[in-house]
Amino acid sequence: MTERIYEAIKKASSLLSSKDLDENAAQLLMEFVTNKSGASLLADMREYLTKTQQTAFWKHTEELLTGKPIQHIIGYEMFYGRQFEVNGNVLIPRPETEELVENALKISMKLFETKDIHMADIGTGSGAIAISFKKEWPEATVAATDISEEALKVAERNAKKNEAEITFYQGNLTEPIKQQKWDVVLSNPPYIAPEESVAMSKTVVDFEPNHALFAEEDGLYFYKKLAKELPRVMKTPSLIGLEIGYQQGTAVRELFQKAFPEAQVEIIQDINGKDRMIFCEIHE
Ligand code: SAM
Ligand code: GLN
Repeated sequence: MTERIYEAIKKASSLLSSKDLDENAAQLLMEFVTNKSGASLLADMREYLTKTQQTAFWKHTEELLTGKPIQHIIGYEMFYGRQFEVNGNVLIPRPETEELVENALKISMKLFETKDIHMADIGTGSGAIAISFKKEWPEATVAATDISEEALKVAERNAKKNEAEITFYQGNLTEPIKQQKWDVVLSNPPYIAPEESVAMSKTVVDFEPNHALFAEEDGLYFYKKLAKELPRVMKTPSLIGLEIGYQQGTAVRELFQKAFPEAQVEIIQDINGKDRMIFCEIHE
């Protein structure tokens, strides 16, 4: 006799929470294993699992218990309403970053008189920022870069699957895009200080690429480099949008106000009320 769906979810959730892991993953795993969406799963909670489903569910629960992210088991994460393939070579795109894209689109709409703009995403990872921007602003010419060849392979597959035309470049920060000038540059660079890793979930530290997460100099290393490099590649008017750590607002604002003395630099909070992005509007 197999278990009922709700019994298996309940058991797996409590195992996960006893290890301080995200217990919601049990429900998501069940959706994956039974191939049912949230609502229909809810309606079938008292049904019995098939033998195959039960075996798969517990095999994957064992993986979750090692800290493996549910997105690595189901193979994708949703971002801005679209599916993005993820694996251990890319950061799993976060909801905070959707807010970066949303604000960048809103500000760009006001700032530019034409739809024909050139946008670059530095450190694209899964391609989430570049691909979402292109889908929402189809007239834009979009480039995306990463230092990691492996990440770019994933981003390229995501662009294809989402039917977004993007030019990808491998290289260090602005190096691959410095022959051109840009209307919009967006980036979610690594910004966590290495010292913070001890307090972080092992789902993140052990399974997401460390070169996507950590940055020296209290997490400010990449903002310092970008503040130095970006003045040479921005048009007037133009927009820079950066995701930041919630305690980095003042420091990053200062860096960009110095690099662009005439610009309007603004810190914007995320849905949780935390400083999460910086926008730098460069005018005549
Ligand atoms: N943009 C994606 C997102 O928001 O989900 C990924 C962001 S992840 C925090 C940072 C990305 O920057 C990683 O994909 C990493 O490989 C890339 N990266 C790290 N150092 C870099 C460098 N020097 N030049 C370009 N990209 C870099
Ligand atoms: N927000 C991510 C996290 O909490 C970090 C993203 C980044 O370093 N840019 O793991």
